[in-house]
Amino acid sequence: RGTRTRELVQSAEHYTARTYSPLDVVVARAQGTTVTDVEGREYLDFLAGYSALNFGHGHPAVLEAARTQLERVTLTSRAVHNDQLGPFARDLCALLGQDMMLPMNTGVEAVESAIKVARKWGYERKGVAPGRAQIVVAAGNFHGRTTTVISFSDDDEAHRNYGPYTPGFVTVPFGDLAALEAAVTEDTVAVLLEPIQGEAGVIVPPPGYLQGVRRCTAERGALLVADEIQSGLGRTGRTLACEHEGVEADLYLLGKALGGGVLPVSAVVGRADVLSVLRPGQHGSTFGGNPLAGAVGRAVVALLATGEPQERARVMGERLHTGLAELAPLGLAEVRGRGLWAGIDIDPRLGTGRECCERLAAHGVLAKDTHGSTIRLSPPLVITEPELERGLAALADVLRAM
Ligand code: PLP
Repeated sequence: RGTRTRELVQSAEHYTARTYSPLDVVVARAQGTTVTDVEGREYLDFLAGYSALNFGHGHPAVLEAARTQLERVTLTSRAVHNDQLGPFARDLCALLGQDMMLPMNTGVEAVESAIKVARKWGYERKGVAPGRAQIVVAAGNFHGRTTTVISFSDDDEAHRNYGPYTPGFVTVPFGDLAALEAAVTEDTVAVLLEPIQGEAGVIVPPPGYLQGVRRCTAERGALLVADEIQSGLGRTGRTLACEHEGVEADLYLLGKALGGGVLPVSAVVGRADVLSVLRPGQHGSTFGGNPLAGAVGRAVVALLATGEPQERARVMGERLHTGLAELAPLGLAEVRGRGLWAGIDIDPRLGTGRECCERLAAHGVLAKDTHGSTIRLSPPLVITEPELERGLAALADVLRAM
């Protein structure tokens, strides 16, 4: 590593709270699928900001929308209307076939908002007794980092010593329909799930599971809230991961790629009769629905409306999964995923996921480990076949050398 890298890593480590353990790569620029560090070294991005960069770095249409809006107006607060929010909300609802949306900023704010909406809906529309609302969640979930959201995380690092915790959540094993059916009671206002668990290592539930959850929630009068913050917006080869099972949720949570890799944009999207429980003064955000976010979000929706990113994710995803299956004998204990999204478990005898990612970076490919021996692969959907082959070849070289 050069002096510049060492200095910049040192200042970041000295002056910022150590909530991450990043790879020793200091990024200076990026374009499309290529990231360049401060030493001028180029890397193929196989992580895409945990799916926040589905359309790649600096997508021309997204940048153009942002630039134009930067010159016009960037922030108004919701004290007045702006000319971007309405069209953004309309286009997003049209894309997803939904009634209305609630604009927020980060992913976890969308999750928090949905929890509030589900509880309020439960008390005011379903008739749950005051203070008794329950939300059923899945073991291994990752929905963000606020106090309430980590209250129902079973990841020890994410949860420990942050109590007292928010009550009102019941955890069931992910993918176990019988356990979920047993946990849903008359006090259940919602089931909150990632249709494919991202942070847990790209865990795809058994076929029919989401349909079973949908049936159960519909029968018992509970909302189905799908957290598509990581799985949504093209990643799996469809606009929403729920579509693979033909399941329609009552509320969808979107974030990450909705901001086009430019700024945080999130939303709760879904049924008008549910979101309409919120009245003026009962929820909000200074930045949520700002005109810059609206312009960028609209550009993202326009890209998805063509169907091209989804199709690319499907076609390149097939190539990715074929390639990974071929690499299995080199030391992949398991490969999971859908579309251009994979969780791979390195045989622990070879080394850790972290070691593998460090070696990949040395081979010019950026990916990141999660939970010990698991690595998440989620290249930008604009990746070309030769680039994908290059990434797979680097992984093969690394596995052989481990
Ligand atoms: N939900 C899911 C499924 C996520 O993967 C994430 C982030 O990784 C979040 C919520 C939280 O999003 P944010 O970090 O923008 O708050």
